[in-house]
Order: sequence, then C-alpha cells, then structure tokens
Amino acid sequence: MGTFIVTDDDIRADFQAAGDDLINEWGKVCRLYYPPRQVQCPNCVYDPIGKKSSNHWLDGGPSFFPLGSMCPMCEGAGTHSEQATEDVKLLCVWSPKDFFVPGPRNIVVPEGRIQTKGFMTDLPKVLQCTEMVVQANLEQMLRARFRRAGEPVDPSSICQGRYFVTNWDRAG
Ligand SMILES: [Zn+2]
Repeated sequence: MGTFIVTDDDIRADFQAAGDDLINEWGKVCRLYYPPRQVQCPNCVYDPIGKKSSNHWLDGGPSFFPLGSMCPMCEGAGTHSEQATEDVKLLCVWSPKDFFVPGPRNIVVPEGRIQTKGFMTDLPKVLQCTEMVVQANLEQMLRARFRRAGEPVDPSSICQGRYFVTNWDRAG
C-alpha cells in the first residue's frame, strides 16, 4: 500500500468491473480477418506430385464431376484459400480527442484513425489478424475495414494487464 496513493482491492475491483462493463456493454463486435490459408479442395483427389487437382472426384465430395473433366469447385487448382475470421468485442473510439491514449501533442492524427480498447485475453487474436471490420453484424451494409497501426499498449495503472489499447487506420 502506498503512502500517498492507496489502491485497495475494493477500489481495484470497482475499476475492473467498470472497465469490463464498458467493453461488454458498449463495445462493438469486431471481426478479425486472419491471413488466408491454402487448404485442399474437399471435392477432388489432390495430386501431390503435380501439386494440383488430379481431376478425380473425391468420393462423397459436394459437387460430382465426371472423370477427366475439371473439378468445378477448385477449377483444377486442387486447393482453395480459406479465410478464417473471429469476432471479438472492442470498445471503439472514433474521435482523437476521446482516445484512451492520446498521441503526441504536436503530431496530427491521420484521417480515419480509430482507437480500440479490449480484453488482454483477446490481444493474441488481434496481433494475428491482417484486418478488422468494426461491427461485424453491419458488414454487408457498412463495411469499415481497418489495419492495426503501431503496437498495442496497456495504459491502465489500476487494472494492469487486463486491457489493451491499440490504434487502427482505415483500410477501405
Ligand atoms: Zn477440386
């Protein structure tokens, strides 16, 4: 316990409950896009030597095709790229004057930059993603894509290690 600053467990618990509520109640569901992976086509037999489709239908595959013709699912490539995504809840701040962590005073914040605060447990996912879409449920209508800008930080003094804040720049 400090001499001038007293942060007992009750205060810490209150701060943490408030911080958790902000993310859980006011956070937006953001969709993280991971780098696409090449996976084998589920519809044809892969030719590992030629590294392409053998043009044989894989028994039980979703789209039958006659022997010797091209697999309609991968068009002969034998693989297709699979885009994995994951949703996390992030508190989003759109206006630089309200940022959790303000930038240096004499540096202009780039147009389209936002800041998010999320749970530290979601940080590994955020670090892995190549892009994020804010408000996944509106993705069809309002598609705002962002790329992470700079390294995430933990700005909290009272609830250290629980939240992270990171900057994002608009990517389309
Ligand atoms: Zn195929």
